[in-house]
Amino acid sequence: MSVAQPVACNEPTPIRQRGQHEVFCGLTSIIWLHRKVQDAFFLVVGSRTCAHLLQSAAGVMIFSEPRFATAIMEERDLAGMADMHDELDNVVARLLERRPDIRMLVLVGSCPSEVIKLDLSRAASRLNAVHAPRHRVIAYSGSGIETTFTQGEDNFLAALIADKASPRSAGEAAKLVVLGCLADVVEDQFSRLFAELGLSGVTFLPGRDAIKGLVVGPETRFILAQPYLGAAAAALEARGARRIDSIFPLGAEGTSAWLRAICMTFGVDMARLDAVVAQPRRRAAEAMAHYRPWLEGRRVFFFPDSQMEPSLARFLSREMGSELLEVGSPYLHREHVAGELALLPPGVTLSEGQDVDEQIDRCRTANPDLIVCGLGLANPFEAEGRVSKWSIEFSFTPIQGFEQAGDLAELFARPLMRNAILTGGADRREAVR
Ligand code: SF4
Repeated sequence: MSVAQPVACNEPTPIRQRGQHEVFCGLTSIIWLHRKVQDAFFLVVGSRTCAHLLQSAAGVMIFSEPRFATAIMEERDLAGMADMHDELDNVVARLLERRPDIRMLVLVGSCPSEVIKLDLSRAASRLNAVHAPRHRVIAYSGSGIETTFTQGEDNFLAALIADKASPRSAGEAAKLVVLGCLADVVEDQFSRLFAELGLSGVTFLPGRDAIKGLVVGPETRFILAQPYLGAAAAALEARGARRIDSIFPLGAEGTSAWLRAICMTFGVDMARLDAVVAQPRRRAAEAMAHYRPWLEGRRVFFFPDSQMEPSLARFLSREMGSELLEVGSPYLHREHVAGELALLPPGVTLSEGQDVDEQIDRCRTANPDLIVCGLGLANPFEAEGRVSKWSIEFSFTPIQGFEQAGDLAELFARPLMRNAILTGGADRREAVR
């Protein structure tokens, strides 16, 4: 375990901390992916622990057929007493017979399947030979050995791109691919804005329909909607698509810059952009102003969880007037987040990776007003009387775009408001009534 110290943000290379990542594994991303991709079914090849994680994190859908499940590997499987590939083939055959509505079956690797080196990509090829084209099968790893929770989405998208961009696809190439899982409501809002801007040929990846083909051509450009998509971006670039560089669409500033980068790429007149975004931007400003009294001047500490931290910190600092004590991120994709890092206040502490004990010490010493961290740290911090926010909520909640800017501010403000009520400190409550 290293004893690396954090560094100021504008230094070119932050010192990497190499302790254990104390975050949810990549399986957790199934919780938002299965809601988005409605013709897909996520089959985790894992253990009872994996099944418990998914059921307790996602809840059990009582009144509808779920779109995820766990094929539990028993001791005899792990001991090599059964042929895992035969067992998996049988499970998949039974599942697809019972659920003919599944268009895309996604095999998700876990820690146990990684440990015994069960090759799910090979299994997907074999199963495609049997079940495609009626059911497509792809595979990716959500193992906690390799992935944090947002990297699960990254791996899923990389697998989807490798499958969807294959030569079997036909049709017109996408002009613009918006890469990264967005809630339906956000996708619909961006679609309306793109239409008003005269932009056509836009594909959201993932979309509601996984099986719909993505065609990448030499003119295809893509823009990231999420900052944690290094593998998926590389997969699209390998197919010839070129990335549009921008900060991310969080808050009014981020959304404006994101749309401006797209418009500049496609030659949309800036006056037209200004006219289209004027009203939504005003609504965003009004919604954010509602929560600013709770966040202005508040000192915030980010533990590394989702890779969204630099973007969230930029939003808090620049649009809500908060003070940043430390911005931790499990990984920093220097190219993708360069714009975000440049907008952080000079001298802010930036850390990459995790050495949780040292970070806890720094956090306690800094004594922030708000700690953004994982569930495992939040409860002990709350027990110490500190105010925390679960970082995974920023993945579950629609927060991108103008119309969600107020909701994003509220996510940060809510624990401070709750704490004020509990402690009788109602000083800022009047401001939001
Ligand atoms: S993939 Fe690994 S970390 Fe995730 S629930 Fe399964 S055993 Fe636990």
